[in-house]
Amino acid sequence: MEFGFTPAQEAFRQEVREFFTRELPAGWVGYEEGAETRDDWWAFAKQLMRKLGERRWLAVHWPQEYGGLGLTPIDHLIYKEEAYYHLVPEGPTHMARDIVAPSIIIYGTEEQKRKYLIPIAAGEIGFCQGFSEPGAGSDLAGLQTRAMEDGDGFVINGQKIFTSRAHRADYCWLAARTDPAATRHRGLSTLVVDMKTPGITVRPLMNMMRAHSFNEVFFDNVRVPRDALVGTKDRGWYQMMTTLDFERSGIDHTAAGRRLLDEMMVYAQETRRNGMPLAQDPKVRNRLAEMAVHVEVSRLLCYRVYWMHSQGKVPSHEASTSKVFGDEFIPRLVNLATQIVGLPALLQRDSKWAPLAGSLERLYLSSVGATFARGTSEIQRNIIAGRGLGLPRG
Ligand SMILES: Cc1cc2nc3c(=O)[nH]c(=O)nc-3n(C[C@H](O)[C@H](O)[C@H](O)COP(=O)(O)OP(=O)(O)OC[C@H]3O[C@@H](n4cnc5c(N)ncnc54)[C@H](O)[C@@H]3O)c2cc1C
Repeated sequence: MEFGFTPAQEAFRQEVREFFTRELPAGWVGYEEGAETRDDWWAFAKQLMRKLGERRWLAVHWPQEYGGLGLTPIDHLIYKEEAYYHLVPEGPTHMARDIVAPSIIIYGTEEQKRKYLIPIAAGEIGFCQGFSEPGAGSDLAGLQTRAMEDGDGFVINGQKIFTSRAHRADYCWLAARTDPAATRHRGLSTLVVDMKTPGITVRPLMNMMRAHSFNEVFFDNVRVPRDALVGTKDRGWYQMMTTLDFERSGIDHTAAGRRLLDEMMVYAQETRRNGMPLAQDPKVRNRLAEMAVHVEVSRLLCYRVYWMHSQGKVPSHEASTSKVFGDEFIPRLVNLATQIVGLPALLQRDSKWAPLAGSLERLYLSSVGATFARGTSEIQRNIIAGRGLGLPRG
């Protein structure tokens, strides 16, 4: 197995790296608690997305006619690895590109492709994903929000929950029940809903980092046109299952892990304890080597997912394997890093004594949510057991 990159791909990686080094402010820490509610932070993120859009880097692997560069999924991987490493605030753009666009590319009409893909690639519009409901998370087929045909469109009623960045998104990628009489997995459809449509209420939910990142979204007689429907009415479940694996590569965690390892390497070389640099302490060297092993495994699992994309295959249990490992290795890395740093690792970003600008505390807390978002680790393990190992359903 060889995951080497071509000289052109190495040059592309270098170009992306240099761009982020130039464009991001010195000491950039990425997402800060409550950042998305701050208009200045948001304006910076939007402006950065437009610059990326001008270079067509938000859609590296899309056809040029839809605003892409026409390169391969491996080139897209390179961009994303660098973007996550540099803590680029992609927010609703990531949701639009990695979750919504693959569905529109496969199931959308030509008109829908032009209407949504081109501004997504340009960094001009962002989406939120309206799938989870108070009674339907892992059990997505149990969702109750309805989109009922009415005249020349649909009328939507219901509630979504944990909708990341709904307060900043232009559109919602909505899963709703279009035939309540059908069995659970039938009668579901996917629609694009303009978040400015009357009848939509977005209510903030605070996460365990005291930040407003996700929301409850209420739909009260929200009327959308017929062309809001993407794909075939009542076939939404099968369409969603095809595209859910696109968001489960885990490359975000691999890149975050790589960054943490690099920062810890610098910390160990610059920090002296007991009269010598930490980097000379056998226990510290052991922990750093252990971190490197985890990062490398995560990287190779992710690369396999993108390699499959590049071969025209749809990764299934392979994406789940990469996601589970990626989600769960961040707390393991933080634990190893904490053993090196000691108690100051618990300090928050606003403390001047916090090592690594407080990223250990923040990464540890945010990694908990990651094991739920995009499908929980238990559900991924069910997929691996069933589709990967061929075990009968439990
Ligand atoms: C940070 C974050 C961001 C999110 N962003 C979005 C978003 O933008 N849009 C969106 O639609 N949703 C989003 N979600 C919601 C996420 O998709 C759900 O939390 C997830 O699908 C789990 O659903 P649930 O919370 O209802 O938990 P439940 O499904 O109720 O699960 C509770 C527990 O039971 C376990 N469990 C459930 N069923 C099984 C089973 N069959 N076998 C074994 N164990 C099982 C689960 O693993 C879990 O530990 C986000 C969640 C988080 C944490």
